[in-house]
Parts: sequence; C-alpha cells; structure tokens
Amino acid sequence: MDKILISACLTGDPVRYDGGAKTSANPHLARWQAEGRLIPFCPEVAGGLHTPRLPAEIEVGTNAKQVLAGEARILDSAGGDVTRAFLDGARATLALAQQHGCRQAVLTDGSPSCGTSYIYAGRFDGNHKAGTGVTAAVLQRHGIRVWSEVQIDELAALLDRK
Ligand code: SF4
Repeated sequence: MDKILISACLTGDPVRYDGGAKTSANPHLARWQAEGRLIPFCPEVAGGLHTPRLPAEIEVGTNAKQVLAGEARILDSAGGDVTRAFLDGARATLALAQQHGCRQAVLTDGSPSCGTSYIYAGRFDGNHKAGTGVTAAVLQRHGIRVWSEVQIDELAALLDRK
C-alpha cells in the first residue's frame, strides 16, 4: 500500500512557526494513519529551525524555483536569511519520501516550505500569490505529486481507484 508523506502540522504536531498545529479532521487521514500509510514530517524543523520561530516568506517578487537556483532568499520577519535551513529541510523531506517510496504528498498550503498552490507574497502583510514552497517544488521536481490539505478527498478518490 502506497505511503503518503504529510506535513506534520496536519497530523497535529505543534511544529508551526507559532508553536501550534494545523490539525486536519479529514476522515481519510485517520484511515490512512490506521493503515500505517502516513509519513508525517516538518521540513523546517528538519532544517534546524526552532519552534516557535519567526514567520518566514520567500523574498518579495521571487519564487521557490529562484530560491532553489540560488537566485532568491527566504527571509524571516526580522530580515534574517533562513534560506539554508529551508533548503536543508527540503532535501531531508525528499530523502525521506524516497526512502519510503512515496509518490504522493499532502502539504499545508501557504507555507514557504509546504505551499502547493499559494505562498505569502514576502511583505508579511497577509497578502499571498500563486506559487509553491521550496519543499513542494523539490518534491514535484522529483516526480512526487503534491496536494494541499483541501485536496485530500481528491487524493483519496485517486488512490481508491487504483
Ligand atoms: Fe507544517 Fe510544513 Fe510549516 Fe512544518 S514547514 S509547520 S510541516 S507547513
């Protein structure tokens, strides 16, 4: 049975920058958990960042691909450059996903690591824009399909057809 990588905050781990979780009540997650399919992981913690931590956003006017190419940075709300930790976390996530043979990942949207459809725009003012986080981009680049927490039903339908 295929394993599914999942953002640890969606399974209740208090690893978000503010020390909270973003627990999903979607019943498919409980089923997958009972089946031993879920691999929860937090790229930012794996990259060495502490919890709680300052919020971070991909530099204004840039995107995850540019960060991966070394052409843009990820900054925290005090202006600190946390790019290295985010890239280390993205690599660790890919390694874990490959180790478990994951072909699907459910990731928390909006995060500069885990975002799959949108990210915050870089000014820490709550505005967001289309794009992905750096971990999502690395996973996609290696053939792992990424889904946001609002697409869990869609992923379940796909897996149940297999
Ligand atoms: Fe959740 Fe991903 Fe942020 Fe970790 S990096 S707290 S898993 S959204």
